[in-house]
Amino acid sequence: MADKRQRRLAEFIEPFRVRPGSKVTLSKDFDPSFKAEVKKKKKGVALLQQGVELLCEYQARLAAQDTYGVLVVLQALDAAGKDGTIRHVMSGVNPQGVAVHSFKVPSAEELNHDFLWRYAQRLPARGEIGIFNRSHYEEVLVVRVHPENLDRQKLPKASKKGDIWKRRYREINDWERYLTDNGFRIVKLFLNLSKEEQRIRFLRRLDLPDHNWKLSAADVRERDRWDDYQKAFSEMLSHTSTEWAPWYVIPADRKWFGRIGAGAVLAHTLMEIDPQFPTVTNEQHRALLEVKQALEAQAPKGAKPDPFQAELVAEAAEEESRKPPARRREPAGAPA
Ligand code: AMP
Ligand code: MG
Repeated sequence: MADKRQRRLAEFIEPFRVRPGSKVTLSKDFDPSFKAEVKKKKKGVALLQQGVELLCEYQARLAAQDTYGVLVVLQALDAAGKDGTIRHVMSGVNPQGVAVHSFKVPSAEELNHDFLWRYAQRLPARGEIGIFNRSHYEEVLVVRVHPENLDRQKLPKASKKGDIWKRRYREINDWERYLTDNGFRIVKLFLNLSKEEQRIRFLRRLDLPDHNWKLSAADVRERDRWDDYQKAFSEMLSHTSTEWAPWYVIPADRKWFGRIGAGAVLAHTLMEIDPQFPTVTNEQHRALLEVKQALEAQAPKGAKPDPFQAELVAEAAEEESRKPPARRREPAGAPA
């Protein structure tokens, strides 16, 4: 069952995956309005609900196992739906196991360190899912499109020599490899929005007073640099999609589809990790039984020694009685 679900998910996300080593031209290779075989939003919403339940189950196991951590990296242009994706995809997950970090213009303290420093500080622990809303990839995106950001990073002259972007790609790949080798899986999602859909979403933010705060003059100025960003995204995808941490380009012109796509990639990664609840050894089990007996002996007069077990037995009996007669388990020793 789990295998079948995993295979279906793998097939579903395959068109989004950037093959390591391939050269990407975003506008040519990925369609922002793609919606696979999911023709109707209603079906999409049901699929997302299933995905949310799956994530909840796997996140609980990830936390209990406490061995692997997962880092979700979300990159996109303004209004592509990063916030909504986080809100919907993680809606069923225990908040104790998830931490979201948004990265803005770096502070003076952050600029006083190497470029990966502030991201390294916010990595998830084992058992956790960490989400980067914008990420270390801004260091080869906004910093590249607006080189004055690089000037503020106080790099020595020698560090600015040569192709600094190629070097940063390599440094990011190495860092991600180090994290993966040490038990931290990285899920990289690029929400791919078309220019026309961004125009419509900006207008919506202008037309709805409660949404005005989401749009700034800076966002509109960034839109003027659309082509530069598409080029920076394309190069980033070409150079940093690796075997250990591939990029997924998620079609984002339909918000509901973007959420399904993002949820599917995350669910697939968790299924690959396949975290398990810890089991106890025979010896630990025997010790637990002794504790159980001691607790039962402490039951006050008239109370059931273990009311919870009584409930479990009643539930199991009820379940059995709901099955059609042919599939009922006959009590041991009953005549055939
Ligand atoms: P928002 O995500 O809309 O709240 O905006 C955050 C802003 O911070 C965006 O305009 C980003 O371009 C900017 N930003 C994020 N990371 C960096 C960075 N490393 N260097 C410069 N600007 C950044
Ligand atoms: Mg913004």
